Amino acid sequence: MPKAQLQYLTDELNHLRHEKLYQRLRILETEQLPVAKFDGHKVINLSSNNYLGLTTHPKLRQRAIEATERFGVGSGAVRTIAGTMTIHMALEEKIARFKNVEAAVVFQSGFTANAGTVQAILGKDDIIISDELNHASIIDGCRLSRAEIKVFPHKDLDACEKVLKEIAARPGHKLLITDGVFSMEGDIAPLPGLVALAERYGAIMMIDDAHSSGVLGKNGRGTVDHFNLHGRVDIQVGTLSKAVGALGGYVCSTRDAIEFLYHRARPFLFSTSHPPSVAASCLAAFEVLDEEPQLIQSLWDNTKFFKEGLKRLGFNTGMSETPITPVIVGDAALAHQFSRELFEAGVFAQGIGFPTVPKGKARIRTIVTATHTREELALALEILEAAGKKLKII
Ligand SMILES: *Cc1c(COP(=O)(O)O)cnc(C)c1O
Repeated sequence: MPKAQLQYLTDELNHLRHEKLYQRLRILETEQLPVAKFDGHKVINLSSNNYLGLTTHPKLRQRAIEATERFGVGSGAVRTIAGTMTIHMALEEKIARFKNVEAAVVFQSGFTANAGTVQAILGKDDIIISDELNHASIIDGCRLSRAEIKVFPHKDLDACEKVLKEIAARPGHKLLITDGVFSMEGDIAPLPGLVALAERYGAIMMIDDAHSSGVLGKNGRGTVDHFNLHGRVDIQVGTLSKAVGALGGYVCSTRDAIEFLYHRARPFLFSTSHPPSVAASCLAAFEVLDEEPQLIQSLWDNTKFFKEGLKRLGFNTGMSETPITPVIVGDAALAHQFSRELFEAGVFAQGIGFPTVPKGKARIRTIVTATHTREELALALEILEAAGKKLKII
């Protein structure tokens, strides 16, 4: 029996069904692999963020098992009470050395790392200058901080400077914040220009490297390394949930900034830390990044092959420069139909519409990984071509 007070939620869902925007969750029945079984169908998987195949890497798997056997399945407390284990500290040390920064702190996810950090370091008298396509976790952190939010058009350095100039004389801390790689477009932030602006106008520079961790820079060190801006970005966030293969988010900064987060970042204070197995897997992943650079090489080789194929077929792939390549179709219902056609034909590429991307910019999003074979990617292109022609997208 539906409860009367929840009827409006049913109405909303029916509205989504009517608009053909209702989506069922796809259920993965195997490991997260380049060819995997979702909802009973074996498909070429172009929807995971498992860039390097580390979700199933033998070394990570082994370390997770060992850590579980030695330390149990849970940490049993938040970090600030009894939930800081030796292995959590070892992971943070490892990350700080990898990123060549003073200190790092790990959160439960990239989402909580962003939201928790922005909220902690700013207050209502401060001002945030934010790219319009920044990730939802940044937006939520900005809102939670109660700082004033100034949004500039995507990657527009002139517009960004205009905002910084307008607020130059105002008191309060200023935070300039951007994604490193934009998750829906696959393009890279103009970080050298942004850093120069932050320096000129005395703003804190913060970057969210979720899709660049393990993907860009030497051995996957991220956009700061990619652009050789070491020491010039105040706060770097990365994720442990995508290329790193497990779960979590990290924040890199000065030792004092990190210790400040211990005292003020709400997800750190009020939500339980990772199980030892997660920390152990992440530790192993950073070893793999250093030991197996060929993984990142094949990620980029596959990216080049697939992106060229999509362009040759005449798809609109937007501004992508990374393994994330959108195929933009415009209408959200069409994007979802395209995705369903592809799935039936053996390719999983998620349809994405409003509110994840602006109205009229709906798309399917493809992500290739290091572990796709050329045969799989060539077959995926054939299937995309057939479905694209059938729906008159190309
Ligand atoms: C995925 C993503 C996050 C969140 O990371 P999780 O570890 O999955 O919580 C944050 N920012 C960006 C840009 C992302 O793409």
